[in-house]
Amino acid sequence: MSSIIQLLPDHVANQIAAGEVVQRPASVVKELVENAVDAGATEIKLIVKDAGKTLIQVIDNGKGMSVTDARLCFERHATSKIRQAEDLFSLHTKGFRGEALASIAAIAHVEMKTKQDQEELGTHIIIEGSKFVSQDVAVLPRGTSFSVKNLFFNIPARRNFLKSDTVEFRHIVDDFERVALAHPNIHFMLYHNGSEMFNLPQSNLRQRIVNVFGGKTNEKLVPVTESTEIVGIQGFVGKPEFAKKNRGEQFFFVNDRFIKSPYLHHAIMAAYEGLLKDGSQPSYFLYLDVPPHTIDINIHPTKTEIKFDDDQAMYAILRSSIKHSLGQFNVAPILDFERDASLDIPYEYKEKESETPLIQVDSNFNPFAAEIPSRAFSSSSGSSHSFGSGYKKQDSNASWESLYVGLKTAADEIDVSEIQFESEEVTGSLFGESEVETAGNRTYQIQKKYIVSPIKSGMMILYQERAHQRILYEQFLTNITMHHAASQQLLFPLELHFSPSEMVMIKELQSSLENTGFVFDAMTTEILVISGLPVNVVESEVKVLLEELLHDLQGELPENSFSQSDRIAKSMARSLSVKTGTYLTEKEQESIVNSLFACKDPNVSPFNKPTFITMGVEDLDKRFAL
Ligand code: ADP
Ligand code: MG
Repeated sequence: MSSIIQLLPDHVANQIAAGEVVQRPASVVKELVENAVDAGATEIKLIVKDAGKTLIQVIDNGKGMSVTDARLCFERHATSKIRQAEDLFSLHTKGFRGEALASIAAIAHVEMKTKQDQEELGTHIIIEGSKFVSQDVAVLPRGTSFSVKNLFFNIPARRNFLKSDTVEFRHIVDDFERVALAHPNIHFMLYHNGSEMFNLPQSNLRQRIVNVFGGKTNEKLVPVTESTEIVGIQGFVGKPEFAKKNRGEQFFFVNDRFIKSPYLHHAIMAAYEGLLKDGSQPSYFLYLDVPPHTIDINIHPTKTEIKFDDDQAMYAILRSSIKHSLGQFNVAPILDFERDASLDIPYEYKEKESETPLIQVDSNFNPFAAEIPSRAFSSSSGSSHSFGSGYKKQDSNASWESLYVGLKTAADEIDVSEIQFESEEVTGSLFGESEVETAGNRTYQIQKKYIVSPIKSGMMILYQERAHQRILYEQFLTNITMHHAASQQLLFPLELHFSPSEMVMIKELQSSLENTGFVFDAMTTEILVISGLPVNVVESEVKVLLEELLHDLQGELPENSFSQSDRIAKSMARSLSVKTGTYLTEKEQESIVNSLFACKDPNVSPFNKPTFITMGVEDLDKRFAL
């Protein structure tokens, strides 16, 4: 029988390897920029056209390559970074597999120019789909320039699989930010379609973080330093009051390499315990230094995961050092028994006698006379209701009020006039006239979560939060697609700060957001000025709303405009809906019931969860028959 096994030709092997190394333009950016870092560059310029689909160029002033190396670097397993297997345990470079350039050259048109410092002339090579097209001697500056054009030109399936420019560019920015944050001592620049997106001069770590995420970041940072035998920790964590709804600003670097570690993330969240509002995410930029032989970075092909020899110790050290920093910088309360109490007295009062405070009593006060102001309840948008101001999320300085919410609502509910039986007016349109309970459709709220209402066949129980999500969702979706949302003009325009990459997303969403009623006045790379809001959004909610939206989209913009509108409508509905735990007046309950059944699809929330259930009289009879 004849043998059938053959070795694959190199260009085929390279193409297959490329599938693993190069998933999208951002992978090329990562590999080229990391090579430039490994080459000792102090200045790295990244030029991108059409989110990398047309061009990715990386220019560095690093050590360059000799003529032989220039040719060899495109061979598979060609690397200058390790020579023997043991070297894997003492890695100080980003790359080591020696397959990036071979892979990239297999699936794109690549032009490379490189010159070593001591040489007069450099080398200019063109290679397309693993085939060397030309090699010349050329006059060049020190360093290396790679241009990668027409990525995936010979793998149409891959090319077609690429997402929109916005999504692909977002991935590039993510990878660029990670390398830039790991190397503040290198000057990085990023240009996209001719305009400068980032220019990050050599600086210290703090300044680098601020340059990447915007000027406002500085005041949010609390330094963290720790040095133990198994790990050195440096970097910054965000003050809890600046915690965001999304996880965009969370970075771990181990030996200057960006990594993801749910385990260490958990350690950080544990350090913040009790300091964060529900669901909010602290920023962190943490740089761990560990002896290279105690980690295994090789367990994942794209190398963002890591394994430590002593996970548990790492967890404990990280958690305690962050706790310590938050305490030391007075972000978290600390117990300090040696504190000198005189420090607590303001300077100008130090020498003064203390006075008895005056107590002012309003002798006319009658607790039963005061009208407790009812919840703001606007009905500005005609037939469909409009919630909003009444359901303001507590901002941090108002959070003490939440302690009294229960008391206030109890008082609210005692309304003498209502103790009599109410008028038997039919207002609902729940199930069409015939279904409506003719004896009146009083609604009741249960556990600040459900609304119960009698219907002709028995009773109906609504899940208030989901029902409201459905109502808002349909309303936003109509507004976005019909372009007819009402907008409330702000007296003073609202200025919000975002990171440059968040602003890129917001710009993409601009027209959809404007269709919901937002009016954007100005946009810079970091600042968004808003002069008008959708009618059911209050000013204090805007920042959270937009953060939640960016979080929901998780850095990925939906492909077509319908799914973009859909996702915006869903996200806004989730942010703005009245939450479980919110007391609703009877009028508000009724409004939810009525508006829900005016919806196109009242049965489920926008996230496909049931919004209400009914129980027929027979069901009730059955329960009582036991
Ligand atoms: P690796 O980085 O894993 O070694 P690559 O395929 O990315 O593999 O690169 C192969 C080799 O080419 C590197 O080891 C390095 O010697 C050389 N090289 C790549 N890019 C540059 C650059 N920008 N400057 C100098 N040398 C480079
Ligand atoms: Mg490399």
